[in-house]
Amino acid sequence: MITSSVLVLLGIGFTSAVILAVASKLLYVYEDPRIAQVEGVLAGANCGGCGFAGCSGAAQGVVSGKAGANVCVIGGESVAAKVAAIMGLEFASMEKQIAFVDCTGGLRAEDLYHYRGVSDCRAQSLLYDGSKMCPEGCLGFGTCVKSCQFGAISMGPERVPVVDPALCTACGACAQVCPRGVISIQGMTARITHLNETTDCLAPCRQRCPGQINIPRYIEQVKCGDYAGALETIRERIPMPLSIGRVCPHPCETACRRGHVDEPVGINLIKRFAADWEMNRGAHAPIPCAPDTGRKVAVVGGGPAGISCAYFLRRLGHAPTIFESMPKLGGQLRYGIPEYRLPKAILDWEIEGILNLGIGVRHGQYFGRDFTLKTLEEEGFEAVFLGIGAWMNLTLRIEGEDADGVATGTEFLTKVGLGMDTGIGKKIVVIGGGNTAIDTARTGVRLGSDVTLMYRRTRDEMPANIEEIEGAEEEGVKFLFLAAPSRIVKDGNGHVTHVEYIKMQLGEPDASGRRSPAPIEGSETLIEADSVYTAIGQKPELSCLYDDSGQCTLEETRWRTLGAHPDTLQTALPHVFTGGDMHTGPALVIIALGEGRKAARSIHQYLTEGGPHYPSNLQRQLIPYTMFTDVPDVGHRAKAKPPHLIDCDERKCTFGEIEGALSLDDVRNETARCLRCGLTCYDRDIPDGSTCVAAECIKKR
Ligand code: FAD
Repeated sequence: MITSSVLVLLGIGFTSAVILAVASKLLYVYEDPRIAQVEGVLAGANCGGCGFAGCSGAAQGVVSGKAGANVCVIGGESVAAKVAAIMGLEFASMEKQIAFVDCTGGLRAEDLYHYRGVSDCRAQSLLYDGSKMCPEGCLGFGTCVKSCQFGAISMGPERVPVVDPALCTACGACAQVCPRGVISIQGMTARITHLNETTDCLAPCRQRCPGQINIPRYIEQVKCGDYAGALETIRERIPMPLSIGRVCPHPCETACRRGHVDEPVGINLIKRFAADWEMNRGAHAPIPCAPDTGRKVAVVGGGPAGISCAYFLRRLGHAPTIFESMPKLGGQLRYGIPEYRLPKAILDWEIEGILNLGIGVRHGQYFGRDFTLKTLEEEGFEAVFLGIGAWMNLTLRIEGEDADGVATGTEFLTKVGLGMDTGIGKKIVVIGGGNTAIDTARTGVRLGSDVTLMYRRTRDEMPANIEEIEGAEEEGVKFLFLAAPSRIVKDGNGHVTHVEYIKMQLGEPDASGRRSPAPIEGSETLIEADSVYTAIGQKPELSCLYDDSGQCTLEETRWRTLGAHPDTLQTALPHVFTGGDMHTGPALVIIALGEGRKAARSIHQYLTEGGPHYPSNLQRQLIPYTMFTDVPDVGHRAKAKPPHLIDCDERKCTFGEIEGALSLDDVRNETARCLRCGLTCYDRDIPDGSTCVAAECIKKR
């Protein structure tokens, strides 16, 4: 009995062993040994922050190609490097990603909550549409704080979330739960390539800035003494804070809400303070760049537009080379704007810091003569940026314009910029009312001439910066308003002796809103002159785009500028992009710098994603409901004025810089005048030492 039972058991055991042996052959699942190796180096927190179910799932994701070496959100670079090594990948240093809160809050002007028992942002948003004045702002219930497994977010004193960059793993949980899109996960590339969207927290100054600089953020950083942070913020939008801090006519300030109280905040003065702080320390702050891609891009023209495009391409990891026809870079910053407004040594220092990033330069290279789009392609350049400015002068089309002693203001200023003899006379007449005319006139004063500036409208219609007009008046430039040249009178040797002009009167406003000047018949008058400089406008010199048979593969607009898509700046040739004066016609440095970044963004997308694109909710116009007409509950506070470095009499014989930077006390006063606006919120009267949320975040990066 016992024997038969044993035999049965043995039989069952043997049969089971056979079945298992066969099954193990049939059902065998191979597990890639790298899964265990990868799991072994992950942080082991099983936090799920990566989106996979625990570290084991993440390891399988890496090995199956569903996740990258940087899958572990808390492991950082060292873990990513180990994972990459297991996978046989080359590990390039990754960009640090971080949760970014784009709602500054402040002591909200209209902070209307209706809780009705709901204490979750998503529920609040779904049930009551947020019921707060600002349609984009933070709802303040801290659902993001609850979602963060790493303790990286807390609600700040102003009921806006504050991120601790040291703890943030960029897992994205906070961004996912925020119903307003106030939080996003960003690295440097995302920040550089971001264009203003209507859903961003755009204070009026930020909406108006053609460079899209995050002005409230850098003002707050300067206020908190974080000057390096402020420069980092500025340099994510423009590469030349030293130059722009000196020459920008600051359109941002025209939209500043503080202007409804007393005077707009001196935004550009604050920017200049931060930029001068770095220069006075004598060392360029390090500027991070993405890992090298080796993709070659040709940048034609080394003015602000080209420099900006090359700078951002480099920061995005590409290999730009600037082709410039003149001996030095800078464009009109160097060969137009005079030394007393922007010293060449400062421009040189700024450009040096940019080129140090690893940007190639070829001087003395004239596009259309020394190289073409075809030769660039043959050299392996995959994309081209064209930014050759607007260097062709408009002519007066009057008798005698060809006389000796008649030249254009830009030719004159370029000669001065190059240190050449200008042959300027004793009595000069400058014709025009823009920046070029004023710069020519003030430069003439410094070269010892008696200067009259002739303009066909009145002072109020002059397009030049008001500070420049006032400077010219102080230095003794005489103004002849409502006067238009009708003839240049020459002597027997063909040299100019007089300008004949006709008096004008202002009529009805034209399409631009300015009153049109009309001649007064029979009012011709002569004014003596041995040099005449015309400054009545420029346009781009586009003949370089045409080949020997007169063909042009690009599109020329009816304003004689280079045609391109307004948002991507891509031209009729998919690999060719443009920006700056060549695209807009004569404009401003800040516009050229802004277009340089936009073009770099498009080129980056062209190289890496097959083509440029842009979000559907781009901010193109000022957002109407954010444009207030009054700002209650804010007390008056005097605006800081920059010091004059040279007194008025001395100015007439020196090219030394006129305007200095604000002192530390003045910059503190000026930053405290900022109302810390958001879309609909602003600070009412608050003490100077209000919290410095943005600076705290940036400092820890
Ligand atoms: P540019 O600065 O003109 O640079 C174009 C570059 O392309 C130059 O370096 C040029 O040498 C190069 N180039 C040209 N043709 C070729 C070619 N065929 N091949 C290779 N390279 C070529 N703006 C302000 O905001 N504030 C001011 O106070 C102010 N003052 C001004 C004063 C003057 C006298 C002038 C002329 C302009 C002023 N502007 C001012 C306007 C401002 O300077 C321009 O809007 C800005 O420089 C445009 O930048 P850009 O790079 O498009 O062109």
